[in-house]
Amino acid sequence: MSSSTPADPLAALADVFGFAAFRGRQEEVVRRVLSGQSTLAVMPTGAGKSLTYQLPARMMPGTCVVVSPLIALMHDQLRSAQAVGIRAATLTSADDDQAETVRRLHAGELDLLYVAPERASRSHFLRLLTQAQLCLFAIDEAHCVSEWGHDFRPDYRLLRPMLDAFPQVPRLALTATADEHTRKDIVAQLGIAQDGMIVAGFDRPNIRYAVSARSSLTSQVKAVLAAEPGAGIVYAPTRAASERLAQALNSPARQVRAYHAGLAPEVRAANQSAFIGSANMVICATVAFGMGIDKPDVRFVIHAGLPKSIESYYQETGRAGRDGEPSKAHLFWGGDDFIRARQRLAELDPARQQGENARLASLAALVETPQCRRAILLRHFGEDPPAQCGNCDNCLDPPEAIDASVLAQKYLSAVVRTRQQFGAGYVKAILTGQSSDRSRDNGHEDLSVFGIVPAAEATLLKPVQRALLAHGALLPTQHGGLMLGHEAQAFLKGERRLDVLRPAAAKRRDRE
Ligand code: ADP
Ligand code: ZN
Repeated sequence: MSSSTPADPLAALADVFGFAAFRGRQEEVVRRVLSGQSTLAVMPTGAGKSLTYQLPARMMPGTCVVVSPLIALMHDQLRSAQAVGIRAATLTSADDDQAETVRRLHAGELDLLYVAPERASRSHFLRLLTQAQLCLFAIDEAHCVSEWGHDFRPDYRLLRPMLDAFPQVPRLALTATADEHTRKDIVAQLGIAQDGMIVAGFDRPNIRYAVSARSSLTSQVKAVLAAEPGAGIVYAPTRAASERLAQALNSPARQVRAYHAGLAPEVRAANQSAFIGSANMVICATVAFGMGIDKPDVRFVIHAGLPKSIESYYQETGRAGRDGEPSKAHLFWGGDDFIRARQRLAELDPARQQGENARLASLAALVETPQCRRAILLRHFGEDPPAQCGNCDNCLDPPEAIDASVLAQKYLSAVVRTRQQFGAGYVKAILTGQSSDRSRDNGHEDLSVFGIVPAAEATLLKPVQRALLAHGALLPTQHGGLMLGHEAQAFLKGERRLDVLRPAAAKRRDRE
């Protein structure tokens, strides 16, 4: 312990990090660690997990060994620890000063030592530790120890002998993503008491969520950029889309750059470091961007298309507002997103289709709901939130729900009558009675559904089609047409009601 570090956690927090207060449940975790109790801390991304071992490591005599799965993450953490004067080092194959690091470990000159699980589980490393004074084992991304987690790493299973060799040294397991099953497995695997779990809430109250249907993406994103100062991330579904968007959005007033795995490493590195240093730059990226990037003042995250799951949506939007200041998350989605997702799904083996179907249904519920978006998110993570958050689009400006059940029946009937092989444009033309050579040749102008939708309702056809796709009542055919999905019958028989949302913006226009 450096003799100048205060023994009181709050005073040490101010002294070492310059922070005025602990966040969320950080203080509980820190106090447990300081009193030698092993702990599993489950805290969402951005909650400040690193501090819960870095601060005790600084306060207690001896070295804290941090097991961390990615060298890139380790180096980020190393830099931020060193920046506040914590004596830290990594011991990886990428380091050429390994002997010096071992010397510092044995001389008691290290607060933190970062190692990968592959090394930590080797007996050679254990022998190194026996000659050192240790204060804590921190196991980062601890869900990797569990086969139930989404990222099982066999090397995590081999850590136990090292931990058990030092029974007096407390263990702190950290993760952002662990359901109940995984949590129980983690504490069992790492030898932490069941009652040693601290699970922090998933709510990110400073993030304002908004979801809108996509009409013309570029101008929609432009409008968000015009309204939102600060640095932001736009997540695009493909590399090509991220480049197109970056090009369309870049302006002298605001730098917008692309970031994806297809760019040359030096371009990627340059764009990333420019972004980290900038107060108003925008990055158009594929979802890989943001992992391990420590930029607390990202003011907004825009999704140009549907994310893969609620979990990924939460994680990606969670990159906004890590400093706790007001931030925005804006998602633009369209029926095409569900078409593409279901095409991908059809190629999976049946065992995986069920899970993917459930994921899509949860996403459909999030984007189609007239209710509080935050409530949907938090319920998905097993919490019991209030019905209204007051800080999402639907709470702030409740959308008007229009009963479109009859229109949905007409739509599905038209798809059936035209033999489930045409796309949305054709179906719309039939429903609104637009004559063409094609529909005449097909004999579709004689169908009872031809012209069955009055002009006044034609604008609702798009939202109806979107909603039917989201709910799995419409599916894509292999040739770009639409066919009925499992859910169609319930709508056709009138057993299920379909509401479409009139967006708040359209409502406002109507009032004016
Ligand atoms: P996690 O690992 O949980 O995703 P980090 O440890 O990277 O989160 O912390 C996220 C950000 O929050 C960092 O920029 C960190 O400096 C900051 N932070 C952590 N704790 C506090 C605090 N008590 N007060 C202010 N900022 C904090
Ligand atoms: Zn809300």
